[in-house]
Amino acid sequence: MRQDFVANVSHELRTPLTVLAGYLETFSDYADELPPRWQRGLALMSQQSARMEHLVTELLTLSRLETSEFKAEATPIDMGPLLATIRTDALALSGHKHNIVLNVDEQLQLRGSINELRSAFSNLVFNAVKYTPDGSTITLSWQLDNQGAQLSVQDNGPGIDNKHLRFLTQRFYRVDDSRSSQTGGTGLGLAIVKHVMLRHQGHLDISSCIGQGSCFTCHFPASLIYTPDFI
Ligand code: ADP
Repeated sequence: MRQDFVANVSHELRTPLTVLAGYLETFSDYADELPPRWQRGLALMSQQSARMEHLVTELLTLSRLETSEFKAEATPIDMGPLLATIRTDALALSGHKHNIVLNVDEQLQLRGSINELRSAFSNLVFNAVKYTPDGSTITLSWQLDNQGAQLSVQDNGPGIDNKHLRFLTQRFYRVDDSRSSQTGGTGLGLAIVKHVMLRHQGHLDISSCIGQGSCFTCHFPASLIYTPDFI
């Protein structure tokens, strides 16, 4: 019942929000003609409606992950191009102020849902951009490990206090509310990552050390890993 309720509410909110955001965008085109007091209000309304649209999209994503049937791609996914695109998007988000290093085993392919994996990995990399200062280094690795393979996103940012780690994948859990709302965070990103990993028979590990940085690791079982034969 809860899942249905959340899915229905999110769906119903979408149409009115689209109308509001659409008109706000039109008004913004004529912002120069408005008195300065209104311009500020308009900018804030646009910002908040974008935030609400983001929230509704994430709620719908989460409810789809909870209710829909899992479908893996027919062919294994090449991780190199996928991670390179995510890196480009993350650099755009950061305004090229972070160093984002790719460390990818190109031979290792993964069976899974490309849309779900893109969403999970992007969430981790975008978080690393959002929660670390300019100039930080973020390393994105895709390598074999002793259970199968792992995708890890490591940063050298401020880190997260140990006491928060086990709650991070709960919906709406945020370490610092004010910082998180400034960055447009909803508190749903890591819950989405956790669900995507469950659907891929894997799991998410989080380790962090204050002052040194954080590492988010997605572990995939050997049954989903594919290495093409080169003869
Ligand atoms: P949000 O939408 O707020 O980013 P998430 O579920 O993605 O929600 O993350 C939950 C919280 O975990 C964030 O609010 C942030 O406080 C913390 N967090 C996530 N990634 C990092 C990181 N790389 N470094 C520091 N804190 C992080």
